[in-house]
Amino acid sequence: MLEVRNLEVVYDDVMLVLRGVSLTVPPGSIVALLGANGAGKTTLLRAVSGLLGVHDGEVVKGSVLLEGEPVHHLRPAQIVRRGVSQVMEGRRILGELTVEENLRAGGHTARVSHLDRVYDLFPLLRERRAATAGYLSGGEQQMLAIGRALMAGPRCLLLDEPSLGLAPALVAQVRDLVAEINRQGTTVLLVEQNARMALSIATHGYVMETGRIVMDRPAGELLADDDIKEFYLGTV
Ligand code: ATP
Repeated sequence: MLEVRNLEVVYDDVMLVLRGVSLTVPPGSIVALLGANGAGKTTLLRAVSGLLGVHDGEVVKGSVLLEGEPVHHLRPAQIVRRGVSQVMEGRRILGELTVEENLRAGGHTARVSHLDRVYDLFPLLRERRAATAGYLSGGEQQMLAIGRALMAGPRCLLLDEPSLGLAPALVAQVRDLVAEINRQGTTVLLVEQNARMALSIATHGYVMETGRIVMDRPAGELLADDDIKEFYLGTV
């Protein structure tokens, strides 16, 4: 579905943030991208979404292929139209607008049928469709951010730390929803610091350190790996 080949990203003309990253997200899979703060995970997602290379000092090399076709030269809106939507870290909902207005702002490709699908996935958003989004709880806002990305009907969803700042029960809820979205046919690239959560639903995992992929294994193997346990799962 999605293939990143030898991606290099430089910020401010000198700072090499991605140092030749390659990864593959097979159709129908959930692929987890793990790594500490600053490893370059968000940068990778932004490169896939076409959000890099527009500011001074940003240099992007390498390629991003969607179903075998290069998309790295396309603008963000064109990439959304090709079927890739990103849920940004920190939710970025429009706090002054209602839940439904936020969903309808999910791009001009948004359709009524997609609204129904989102409300079916998140009954709570249907209940609260007229509520001001800024007053939703953190977990509800995360659901809304995911729902908004789904409004474009993506075949591939890029999620940037959906569990960030959520209480454990809500992390489990987000995990189950991501698994359900995937089960309904959407391929997922999941960036997470919560490695246990991500690997519990992923088919495959990549670990990034300072701009490089240092591990690339089936999710089950990563969950059982002692180094991963020590550094990312908080147990030895
Ligand atoms: P986090 O989980 O904290 O978001 P990350 O793995 O997603 O971490 P990135 O956000 O991709 O990492 O950042 C990688 C490096 O690039 C960091 O050192 C960060 O400070 C730097 N960086 C990120 N965005 C920019 C920017 N727009 N200009 C300059 N440097 C940046």
